[in-house]
Amino acid sequence: MPPPSPYRAASLHLASLRTPRAPRPAFYAIQARRHASTKHPKNFRPPAQDELDELRERTIDFTRREITHDVAQATDHSNEFPHSMWKKLGEAGLLGVTADEEYGGLSMGYQAHCVILEELSRASGSIGLSYAAHSQLCVNQIMLNGNDEQKAKYLPDLVSGDKIGALAMSEHTAGSDVVGGMRMTAKEASDGSGYVLNGTKMWITNGPDAHLVVVYAKTDPDAGTKGMTAFLVDTTTAGFNVARKLDKLGMRGSNTGELLFDNVHVPHSHILGSVNKGVKVLMEGLDLERLVLSAGPLGLMKAALDVTLPYVHERKQFGTPLATNQFMQGKLADMYTKYKASSAFTYSIARHIDESYENPDIRTQDCAGAILYAAERATECGMDAIQCLGGMGYMNEMAAGRIMRDAKLYEIGAGTSEVRRMVIGRAFNKEFGVR
Ligand SMILES: Cc1cc2nc3c(=O)[nH]c(=O)nc-3n(C[C@H](O)[C@H](O)[C@H](O)COP(=O)(O)OP(=O)(O)OC[C@H]3O[C@@H](n4cnc5c(N)ncnc54)[C@H](O)[C@@H]3O)c2cc1C
Repeated sequence: MPPPSPYRAASLHLASLRTPRAPRPAFYAIQARRHASTKHPKNFRPPAQDELDELRERTIDFTRREITHDVAQATDHSNEFPHSMWKKLGEAGLLGVTADEEYGGLSMGYQAHCVILEELSRASGSIGLSYAAHSQLCVNQIMLNGNDEQKAKYLPDLVSGDKIGALAMSEHTAGSDVVGGMRMTAKEASDGSGYVLNGTKMWITNGPDAHLVVVYAKTDPDAGTKGMTAFLVDTTTAGFNVARKLDKLGMRGSNTGELLFDNVHVPHSHILGSVNKGVKVLMEGLDLERLVLSAGPLGLMKAALDVTLPYVHERKQFGTPLATNQFMQGKLADMYTKYKASSAFTYSIARHIDESYENPDIRTQDCAGAILYAAERATECGMDAIQCLGGMGYMNEMAAGRIMRDAKLYEIGAGTSEVRRMVIGRAFNKEFGVR
């Protein structure tokens, strides 16, 4: 085992999850081949179930301490992200779960990332969403596509929570058709010093707070999918502005923004991947993004059960607890079954990807299927939670309404349910050689 880096040492109470286990018989043979994975961190080995269970327990400890019911409610009501949370998440070692240890990461992979996102989302959907935008859409995207210099420059601060990350792909004209509709341009600077970005980005999670944004822009607007490039944009660069923070139905407090780029100069060293290869960067991240984000709805379904189960067993009507009523039992059974089925789907795919790390087997229909299924079930569970609580379910002092509003986002953000179905259908078409 390599010695823990200074960053990793700072989060040793989580990092220790990976150190005390005895080497397996084939360990050294595996270690020799470890660097082969293009989707996992250095020194990655698939976590054992007891490591994942312990990670879950520690994340639950963190949420009990730091994301209480009151914190979650205040985040929703004020529509403000609790800013001190970033540093707390960093100190707890939660921000770089898929990042290399040398940058402070846990080097633990996608099952672990799902576990953390699920438990954070269970405590607060919006804190979970902001976490995912930072740790998956930004940190993991840099891990997958950044060069050594970019990783060394940006990852330590992102993993420690000193800096906040975001990813900006969508625009007013570029939602489901994100490549075809993209208007943002990146033209070569006349002095050859880099690129100049112009345009706007819409609905960007963490956009109002971010220090670093992964931005997609057209470097050759007539070349379609072959004319887009990904850039790392430092938000202190002249010409970068947050046009407005958006007011939302749910996920309130996960700050979402419209971003303006007015002649933003980006040096060559900030190109993520290669010029005109932005679609490759986009596609590298999309399947894993869908998979990891499917853990958000899992947490929300658990939260729906957390609020509903005690309530229907305590509150009596017609002289008996609500939960003894068969209509209520039907709802509880459906909620529980939806959570368990979604959870089994997500974690089976995450486990398969982690365990195939030497040659990662990532199937688009599996990743899109996991989030398609979990997202729709989570909205249903949120609605059922409101119904089970009756009048109190409709009150903002209870979590049920917030859970339902938060859950609905997962049917839209990171691709809609319709697009996920389309993507799954097309994956089968591809396998059958049909376009
Ligand atoms: C809270 C929030 C956070 C977000 N965070 C980010 C972020 O961090 N970064 C980022 O880049 N983007 C982000 N997004 C943007 C998000 O990815 C887009 O909203 C999403 O992809 C849908 O695009 P759209 O809103 O333009 O909807 P549209 O594409 O206009 O779609 C509208 C409706 O038409 C349907 N539709 C569209 N095309 C088809 C088709 N071919 N067949 C069938 N139905 C179709 C859609 O499914 C949808 O129901 C966020 C959005 C929200 C709401």
